[in-house]
Amino acid sequence: MEKRTVLQARRADSIGQQVCLEGWVRTRRDSKGGFSFIELNDGSCLANIQVVADNQLSNYENEVKHLTPGCSIRVVGEIKESQGKGQATEVQASEVFLFGTADAETYPLQKKRHTFEKLREWAHLRTRSNTFGSVFRVRNRVSYSIHQFFQERGYLYVNTPVITASDCEGAGEMFRVTTLDVDQPPKVNGKVDFSKDFFARPTYLTVSGQLEGEIFATSLGKVYTFGPTFRAENSNTSRHLAEFWMVEPEIAFADLEENMEVAEAFLKRIFSDVMNDCAEDMAFFNERIAPGILDTLQGIVESEFLRCSYTDAIDILQKSGQEFEYPVTWGMDLQSEHERFLTEQHFKRPVILHDYPRSIKPFYMRCNDDGKTVRAMDVLVPQVGEIIGGSQREERLDVLESRMKEQGLDAEEYWWYLDLRRYGTIPHSGFGLGLERVLQFITGMGNIRDVIPFPRTPGWAEF
Ligand code: ATP
Ligand code: MG
Ligand code: MG
Ligand code: MG
Repeated sequence: MEKRTVLQARRADSIGQQVCLEGWVRTRRDSKGGFSFIELNDGSCLANIQVVADNQLSNYENEVKHLTPGCSIRVVGEIKESQGKGQATEVQASEVFLFGTADAETYPLQKKRHTFEKLREWAHLRTRSNTFGSVFRVRNRVSYSIHQFFQERGYLYVNTPVITASDCEGAGEMFRVTTLDVDQPPKVNGKVDFSKDFFARPTYLTVSGQLEGEIFATSLGKVYTFGPTFRAENSNTSRHLAEFWMVEPEIAFADLEENMEVAEAFLKRIFSDVMNDCAEDMAFFNERIAPGILDTLQGIVESEFLRCSYTDAIDILQKSGQEFEYPVTWGMDLQSEHERFLTEQHFKRPVILHDYPRSIKPFYMRCNDDGKTVRAMDVLVPQVGEIIGGSQREERLDVLESRMKEQGLDAEEYWWYLDLRRYGTIPHSGFGLGLERVLQFITGMGNIRDVIPFPRTPGWAEF
């Protein structure tokens, strides 16, 4: 007997096949005349398949008629054409085997609807709900698209370290990794003695794989890293997690212009893949969570991204007549309210902002000749704000060294990074895309905690 998924069994071309399906009961309804309809879901798609079970089954009276939501079963039977609305097929069961019951009194996924917040507290239940099933199927597709996009263009996939000694972003948002006894650390002259630590120096969880990615890009060409990233920031916002997934391409010999082109093509590829391959899940989001998102994504795929310099954006914001909580001045880092005004009210679509003030950007970004700005870019989208941050990297050794001094960094610690400029330096660029931010945009899920399997936020890491 061939095992099939519900996704496969729902296709009209499977009619006539003898199959075996395994999954969880969503509902059971009994009909007069001695038969029951069971809605079965196995996570392969949003939809259920209808199983028709009748009193010819030996366990009909004592098991089938007692199936409740959450029970796990195996069904063997024939796929038949269905007269029911919204379904091409159904299964006429010749055998229903019960794996596990789910007590109807305590199983919480009964008729009642739960908030996403509540579902986060129930490990087993969240993933069995329609919304989260769709979220994680779309997340899976986006992850696959990420690899496809870069692999098809000849990028090398590099795994950068999770444990690192450098603070790439200089924002002081790092989690420390240590084997020292934190209650009674060894000390010399009143200071913690890290020479006694596992690595004999202070180490942290990575905030970005960029600097290490640059080592590979400046020898192997075009590379990308895709993995978990950690930031001990106040993640009590709907757009920040303490652990999130970031994709970071690093492109040898690319200037900011090429970097922006890659970012645009990359996002368009992700959006078309989810529209093509997650049609059912995307229809669900379009109807229930993010009205109009399909038209929005289609519009983005079909048009060119807008570009706007930081300086022009400041001008737009200042002339907008809008009352912002944070007043707009040249040199400030844009806040969410400003990014949202630009994408939702002014441009009414995604926009790439570029050439930011050097004072608010990390040391590694390439300085412009104006002495005030760096070759940075952010891709902003409506509702979410920044989904990509990137830049052309400073390839001139002397400029890089003086920038590090300017930002109070110890050049000696970055000797390995400076060597990339000392020996055969090249212009190069790259960016970081937050996987969860993109998923928020695609699905319309308001809270970033609801697009990652296991959200890590202040005060929560139980499972
Ligand atoms: P933000 O301004 O939103 O705090 P950032 O400028 O600090 O973001 P970058 O250092 O530019 O972030 O990181 C690149 C990308 O990683 C961002 O564009 C965003 O998509 C994502 N990202 C950054 N911080 C987080 C976080 N705490 N949780 C989830 N995604 C994040
Ligand atoms: Mg940040
Ligand atoms: Mg930012
Ligand atoms: Mg950024």
